[in-house]
Amino acid sequence: MGDKKNYGFTTTILHGDRQKGIEHGSLHKPIHTSVAFGYADVRQLASVFQGKEPGFRYGRQGNPTISALEEKVNKMEQGVGTICFATGMGAIGAVVQALLRTGDHVVSSSFLFGNTNSLWQTAMSQGISVSFVDATEVANVEAAITENTRVVFVETIANPRTQVADLKRIGELCKARGILYVVDNTMTTPYLFQPKSVHAGLVVNALTKSIGGHGNALGGSLTDTGAYDWTRFPNIYENYKKAAPLQWGLAQIRAKALRDFGSSLAPDAAHHIAVGAETLALRMQRTTTNALALAEMLEKDERVAAVYYPGLKSHPQHGISAELFRAHGSLLSFELKDGLDCFDFLNRLKLAIPASNLGDNRTLIIPVAHTIFYEMGAERRASMGIAESLIRVSVGIEDTDDLLDDFCTALEGC
Ligand SMILES: *Cc1c(COP(=O)(O)O)cnc(C)c1O
Repeated sequence: MGDKKNYGFTTTILHGDRQKGIEHGSLHKPIHTSVAFGYADVRQLASVFQGKEPGFRYGRQGNPTISALEEKVNKMEQGVGTICFATGMGAIGAVVQALLRTGDHVVSSSFLFGNTNSLWQTAMSQGISVSFVDATEVANVEAAITENTRVVFVETIANPRTQVADLKRIGELCKARGILYVVDNTMTTPYLFQPKSVHAGLVVNALTKSIGGHGNALGGSLTDTGAYDWTRFPNIYENYKKAAPLQWGLAQIRAKALRDFGSSLAPDAAHHIAVGAETLALRMQRTTTNALALAEMLEKDERVAAVYYPGLKSHPQHGISAELFRAHGSLLSFELKDGLDCFDFLNRLKLAIPASNLGDNRTLIIPVAHTIFYEMGAERRASMGIAESLIRVSVGIEDTDDLLDDFCTALEGC
């Protein structure tokens, strides 16, 4: 596919597998459950193991169902290669496991998914230093870079306060310095934004979220965009330098992280994610429209102290968001005014479900400080701009009026 014509985003996802040929003319790539793959000629088995010809070895390193999803995500990100993992954290963990060594330095946005923040704390206990900076300003990233900086890590729209990283300028900086730029694209998805366009070398997607979209399967991915020159990365082992430099990074990640740490995506989860991904664009159109309508309604309400959504003109990075993203995402957060009990308010909602997770078809809400950001403590929450009353909303695909009514009724009238 793509030989004759550059198809659009959804056409590519829908027809990509089939055009390559699926066994028995099946329209969906089947769920292959076999852990092992037999070869009629043992010489062929040997050459597959030696990387001299393509083929599957053992389920932990991949199988036909996973490969099909890897190709699908790769097409969405227009990458040169993609590896899937059991979860989004498996994908981010792979960056640490496969690419970083004691003494290395990382510059990370301080506005991060909570578990990524925790992962960096673990890396720090293992001899990797991490500088946390306000990545909405490239100058902060530049000031933190040292000669040992191997990776700059940012999220597109940060969860839960929706800060948008200075994505383009950070990309230019990393390109000039030869530093690997890793962008977590979970909040935007490749439908709204392709980090390749701002020189990201590796792109993280938590497939669990909007790409899978139905809250019924965990998964994660790392895509190499081809933008990074791996010959400038000092941590590639000789073993993985046999192929062209474009492939060094993923070769090392597949072996040193996926194979050796074993955070492998299950084939049935890959199937759920692949089916979910078919409607990614349609769902994002709906959730982003709903999110903007809800954000605008909440911003006008006098009982609401603050609303954080990049689609609002009042958002400090509204300009960057409008310039780079097709729409402003499905996530918003807000604070009620002092004296209003956020637990009582949340309990009055009838449709929005109090639950963790993001990017589900159903609207999910959570009081952030009391749940997902509880473990890190008040001081660190404050440094990340997380108020104790902050409510995060992952906006779903409900009919817009029903969703607005639900929040309006819970506020006891608009
Ligand atoms: C959820 C999430 C992850 C982790 O994904 P899992 O599949 O839950 O491990 C990483 N980054 C961001 C921005 C997320 O929202």
